[in-house]
Amino acid sequence: MKKYNIIDVLSHIGKEIELYGWVDTVRDHRKIVFVDLRDRTGIVQVVGGEDFKTLSCEDVVYIKGLVKKRPDKLVNPKLATGTVEVETKSLKIITKAQPLPIPISSNGYDVNEESRLKYRYLDIRRPRMLRNLILKSQSTLFIRNYLSKLDFIEVETPILTKTTPEGARDFLVPSRLQKGNFYALPQSPQQYKQLLMVGGIERYFQFARCFRDEDPRKDRAYGEFTQLDLEMSFIEQNDILTLIENMFTKLVAILFPEKFISQSPWPRLSHSDTKKKYGTDKPDLRKDKNNPNELAFSWTIDFPLFTEQSDEDFFHGSGKAKFAPSHHMFTAPHPDDIPLLNTDPLKVRGLQHDLVLNGFEVGGGSIRIHQSKVQNKVFDLIGFTAEQKKQFDHMLEAFSYGVPPHGGIAPGIDRFLMVALGEPSIREVIAFPASSGGKISVMDAPTPATNEQLNELGIRVIV
Ligand code: ASP
Repeated sequence: MKKYNIIDVLSHIGKEIELYGWVDTVRDHRKIVFVDLRDRTGIVQVVGGEDFKTLSCEDVVYIKGLVKKRPDKLVNPKLATGTVEVETKSLKIITKAQPLPIPISSNGYDVNEESRLKYRYLDIRRPRMLRNLILKSQSTLFIRNYLSKLDFIEVETPILTKTTPEGARDFLVPSRLQKGNFYALPQSPQQYKQLLMVGGIERYFQFARCFRDEDPRKDRAYGEFTQLDLEMSFIEQNDILTLIENMFTKLVAILFPEKFISQSPWPRLSHSDTKKKYGTDKPDLRKDKNNPNELAFSWTIDFPLFTEQSDEDFFHGSGKAKFAPSHHMFTAPHPDDIPLLNTDPLKVRGLQHDLVLNGFEVGGGSIRIHQSKVQNKVFDLIGFTAEQKKQFDHMLEAFSYGVPPHGGIAPGIDRFLMVALGEPSIREVIAFPASSGGKISVMDAPTPATNEQLNELGIRVIV
């Protein structure tokens, strides 16, 4: 294992050091050659002789050398290691690199995105991408520690599962053992996290991979994304809002110290007021939209439980109902509005909460229905047939064995990072996102299945 990182040169002035890394640049000054050597901790100038002339950019090398302080007038203020350089004693070329198909010295915004995704393993060598992945890792670690200290239990839920009612199109996976049947990849672990509350877990979270077959947008990746999925029992809506507000406030202070939250406590705005005032339920409340460091969080609450069903609400299937859930079918109605379920469903408020940041919805959740009667009524109102209701029998049965009142939320970690890092697209914070058309360019997926695989699954492809 390598012993030193490039940044360690700063603590090795006057001493020998062994470094491994990539050749970032080569500057040939005839008798001496300067190489900028790069690893994930930084860049240092290395000075070599004749043997350095064979080096090309992105070669992987080993260098043993003496770390020397640079004279004041040769200090490079642009480099963290700019006060020193390494005088080479020995050089080994570990692997040669051919010229790269995409430039990686710029921030990359100017490079064609298809090419960046095809050569993503090169694209993530650029410092901006590395920073994004590091901050993502630090953010999840922070959240994991924060929630664990508050007695949350991290629980995994299945990826091969059944259709879930988040409202998007499912990805299906054929079953070999039960030919003709399909798993659906979860659009979210919504039902599982509610079942965990029935199971007495009380405080659950996981970094959940969610799969939705929807068209990509700049704030929505195609195919899959990561949510911080969270659920709690014996709570009220205010408990969820307060927990998330405290957690993200601390996360921003620790991991994004250059950013500031423009208003605390975060405004809580009713859906109808927000729509009236800003024309949207995800208002951009920044005081100065030119200020890249301002984070304006807010909550949108008091959503109507239902919207009028449109033709696009394909997931209900029956096509006869007038109502579609604004959030999803497990969101609880406001207790004061329960009688309106029978008389004027569109007037019923739901206990839904959306987390908004700089005009983007970065999370949504709700207090859930925990009474089978109310759940049944909602199923009826959204036009479920007896057959469709049957698909949720396990939920109603589970609720018959002692269900605690519960609720939760699922902030989108990629989307939060996109906004906090000021990135123009969610793909900038995902290591290997799908490109438009749903292609994972590096692997060239999806690919056709072999006849053997299809036969085993009992599937015939008609295209
Ligand atoms: N499952 C919901 C979603 O993915 C979030 C929640 O209600 O907690 O939007």
